[in-house]
Amino acid sequence: MAPDLVRRLREETAARIAAHTDELTALDQAIGDGDHGFNMKRGFEAIAAAAEDLDALALGPALQKAGMTLVMKVGGASGPLYGSFLMAWGKAMTGDPPTREDFAASLAEGVAAVKKRGRSEAGEKTMLDVLVPVLDAITQAQGDPIAAARQAAKDGLETTRDMKATKGRASFLGERSIGHIDPGARSSALLVETVCDVLEENP
Ligand code: ADP
Ligand code: MG
Repeated sequence: MAPDLVRRLREETAARIAAHTDELTALDQAIGDGDHGFNMKRGFEAIAAAAEDLDALALGPALQKAGMTLVMKVGGASGPLYGSFLMAWGKAMTGDPPTREDFAASLAEGVAAVKKRGRSEAGEKTMLDVLVPVLDAITQAQGDPIAAARQAAKDGLETTRDMKATKGRASFLGERSIGHIDPGARSSALLVETVCDVLEENP
C-alpha cells in the first residue's frame, strides 16, 4: 500500500468536509437542527489533531483510531454512527494492500455497524442510502470498482430526496422531510468521492 495513503486520506477528507461545511449545514437546517456541517468539521479537525500518530499506522488501525476520535469528539447522531463505521471497517481490514474482495468484505462490516448502531436500514433517508449502494457496487462491480462506487454514491444520494425520513431527527418532520436531500447521505457521498479521488492517485 502506498506509504502516504493514510496521510492523503486524512488531508483530503478534512479539506473536502471543510469546503462543504456550509452546504451540509444548509441541508441539515432544512430537515434537522442545522449542526451536521459543524459536527463533521469538528470531527475531521479532531482527526487532523491526531495526525502524527495516525499517519504512522497501517490503514486498518488508522481507520479504527479515526473512528474512535469521531465517537469521542462529535456530538449528534452522526459522530457515533461514522465512528462505529470507521472502527468496524478498520478492525475488519485485511491484506496489505487489500484486494477488492478484502476491501469490500471489511467495508461490509463498517456498514453493518452503522445499521446496528442506528437500528436502521437503507430506505430510511439516511447515510445508509449512500453507504449500502456503494458497498453493493464495489462488491458486484464487473468493471472498475472506483467508477462504480462514484456512480452509486451519486445515485444513492439522489434517492434520498423523495424518501420520507423514518430515522433520526428528520423523521420528526414526517411527510415534510420529502423533497430534501439527507445531510448525512450528502456527507457520505462527499467522503466516497474523496476516497475515490485519493485511491486514483495511488492505483
Ligand atoms: P443530529 O441528527 O443528531 O443532529 P447530525 O445532524 O450530525 O446529527 O447527523 C444527521 C444525519 O445522521 C442524518 O442526516 C442521517 O443521515 C444520519 N442519521 C441519523 N440517524 C440515523 C440512524 N438511525 N441511522 C443511520 N443514519 C442516521
Ligand atoms: Mg443535525
